[in-house]
Amino acid sequence: ASRSFHPDNSTVQLPHSKISADTFTIMAGPCSVESEDHIRRMAEIARLGGASVLRGGAFKPRTSPYTFQGLGEKGLRYLRKAADENGMDVITEVMDETHVALVAEYTDVMQIGARNMQNFSLLKSVGKTSVPVALKRGMAASIDDLLNASEYIASGGNTDIILIERGIRTFDHKYTRNTFDVAAVPVLQKLTHYPVIVDPSHAVGFRDLVAPAAYAGTAAGASGMIVEIHDHPEKAVSDGPQALKPNDYLTMTKRAAALRKCM
Ligand code: PEP
Ligand code: MN
Repeated sequence: ASRSFHPDNSTVQLPHSKISADTFTIMAGPCSVESEDHIRRMAEIARLGGASVLRGGAFKPRTSPYTFQGLGEKGLRYLRKAADENGMDVITEVMDETHVALVAEYTDVMQIGARNMQNFSLLKSVGKTSVPVALKRGMAASIDDLLNASEYIASGGNTDIILIERGIRTFDHKYTRNTFDVAAVPVLQKLTHYPVIVDPSHAVGFRDLVAPAAYAGTAAGASGMIVEIHDHPEKAVSDGPQALKPNDYLTMTKRAAALRKCM
């Protein structure tokens, strides 16, 4: 991961997107794939806002085992179809080593969630594939922990890695779900050649705070963002309180794109 080993910025190339130091990629979609029709509508909105990558969880790492756990393979199929119909790439989470081959069949980027950042057998397993991996910072992980986790992927041969700052746990999680460590963006860029993006949705947890965090991440020089959207967040099966409504998403992405041009 170190720049001393690899001085030049690395690029992750997907069929419809490029994630690199000099590009800005928007990944957007609902927290979970909810139905075929819903993910199709969300893909259209995501694309309108300039997203080239569609997000949606089919295997969900829920805090409680009694809440919605995802549609599984059916969800992967709906997500792939919605992305293909809109000329977009797919990012989705793989939670378990035994699902890597299945998820790899449907996705362009495998997301490793914050809760699995140090699931070393999962990291080794995605490291043996040739599918790009987006690694989220664990909620109690230091920057060195994140970089070491990325080594578990790279040491298997897969160096198509994107790092995601998604907020860390601090003493106050009443007003923000996590604490957005925006300085992690330039720190990581100094230390590593991998592209760094931000996840303002999980970082702050409440819809009215998502746009300010997204602008901060953009201004800090991130290579893009991954953001949750929903047309009826009150009915969302997961993470409704942090989902941007379509119009707010469209305003936010327009402003972020303008901000990025000033950087
Ligand atoms: C998600 O992307 O929906 C998710 C569960 O994210 P994190 O792993 O950052 O909590
Ligand atoms: Mn979510």
